[in-house]
Amino acid sequence: MTLDLTPNLDPFALARALSGKHFYDGAFQAGRSGKTFPVNNPATGAEIGTAPFGDEADVNAAVAAAKAAQKGWAKLPARQRGKLVAECGRVLVNHVEELGRLIALETGKALRTESRVEAGVLADMFTFFGGLGSELKGETVPFHPDMMTMTVREPVGVVAAIIPWNVPLLLMAMKAAAALVAGNSVVVKSAEESPLTVLRVTQIMNSVLPAGVFNILSGFGPECGAPLVAHPDVKKVSFTGSVETGRIVYKAAAEKLIPVTLELGGKSPMIVCADADTDKALAGAIAGMRFTRQGQSCTAASRIFVHEDIHDAFVAALKAKVDAMVMGDPLDEKTDIGTIISGGQFDRVQSYIALGRETAGATELACSSMPTDPKLAKGLFVQPRIFTGVTNNDRIAREEIFGPVCCVIKWKDFDSVIEQANDSEYGLAATIWTRDLKTAMDATRRLEAGFVQVNQNLVVQPNLSYGGVKTSGLGREASLESMLEHFTHKKTIIINMA
Ligand code: ADP
Ligand code: MG
Repeated sequence: MTLDLTPNLDPFALARALSGKHFYDGAFQAGRSGKTFPVNNPATGAEIGTAPFGDEADVNAAVAAAKAAQKGWAKLPARQRGKLVAECGRVLVNHVEELGRLIALETGKALRTESRVEAGVLADMFTFFGGLGSELKGETVPFHPDMMTMTVREPVGVVAAIIPWNVPLLLMAMKAAAALVAGNSVVVKSAEESPLTVLRVTQIMNSVLPAGVFNILSGFGPECGAPLVAHPDVKKVSFTGSVETGRIVYKAAAEKLIPVTLELGGKSPMIVCADADTDKALAGAIAGMRFTRQGQSCTAASRIFVHEDIHDAFVAALKAKVDAMVMGDPLDEKTDIGTIISGGQFDRVQSYIALGRETAGATELACSSMPTDPKLAKGLFVQPRIFTGVTNNDRIAREEIFGPVCCVIKWKDFDSVIEQANDSEYGLAATIWTRDLKTAMDATRRLEAGFVQVNQNLVVQPNLSYGGVKTSGLGREASLESMLEHFTHKKTIIINMA
């Protein structure tokens, strides 16, 4: 097939057509070295396509294109940039089904519960940020009567956006839309596990944007991500990924003294009080733990603290609900739960399940059931696990697993459960479930997290600042303030009129 902009609902054909390509300077580009790596369907293990193994030569070419395009882009009136970004959202709406299927194929996330949903919310980020062009305002300062003193917001230049594989469309959109409206050009480094759908989105966005303004490279961290961060013309890095890699990126950026936004891991607590609406809390646990995404979420509610009075009934009901979820082919509409992303993550998750089993006092509850379809025999399916009888000090309750494994911890004393919830290296998200307003307010003040919710568990929303404290990261995303703080410099101008 040709890679035109007609939505293609055959993800296998689309994956083949997108194979072996970066996209920069307004066009698909082969990798300079000619080396590629396979992209696999985690539900079968079959190769569905390839992606270029990007290296420093590709980085240099993409950054040069981005640098050349940025000056003209920044000169456009801010509202005009915003209109073009919003137009990207409008065009992407036509591709929801196409993108949903392709992301399901390359990541193993179930189409109905996850992939189509992610493709559907993508446009919203572009629409939201597209309206913010004229919010790039400065101030006038009453400094001296003879001097006109003001501040203006200027773009930082070329932005590097490094994204992971779990929600690549949404995370790319959040970074791209904000950076672009602020007048920057962008070079994305996609995750090696899921390079194809974001490549397609880049092609679609480039049907609207001027050449070179929005670019994407595929490749691995050390060979492609590291030279991108280190490139002298890259003036800002926005990174989402693991704590370990976040530290490497932060150090590399420190060498160049450029600003960084980091959105890293989590081990998010969910506190269920005895007076909670348990139906709502159960639905919140299912959604919060992202069972439909195999728990592959940095905000996964992987530590569920349940009051002792309702603990046993809650656990039984939670298990019944997860049991009722169907694991299977991610592209099948009946499927609730797809696969783990890669063999490496699969092994890691299995090692944590083994660790849970060895944890003193812990009980393992294996939920749902493995798919029986022989064509999925090599698929990276893992039965969701609930571990009860765990304490907050056990490794399984402390380390981020990034898989369908959650701990349910019994509690009795409110001060102590808040203390346990905060006793974590992470601080990304937290929820509290109670009908008592005072308890809820008290908890929201005391919980150490960037995103705290009462009686619900929403994901990232346009204009709600999103990000963590402690090792969960630095800076915020998704909001107007995040665009101003992280994608612009403030310049002070003084005009002496005397
Ligand atoms: P995960 O554990 O989910 O793979 P990573 O933090 O390893 O998370 O990956 C997130 C993103 O960071 C990916 O796009 C990956 O290629 C990239 N990455 C990994 N190592 C580096 C590095 N040294 N410099 C820049 N980017 C990197
Ligand atoms: Mg990695």
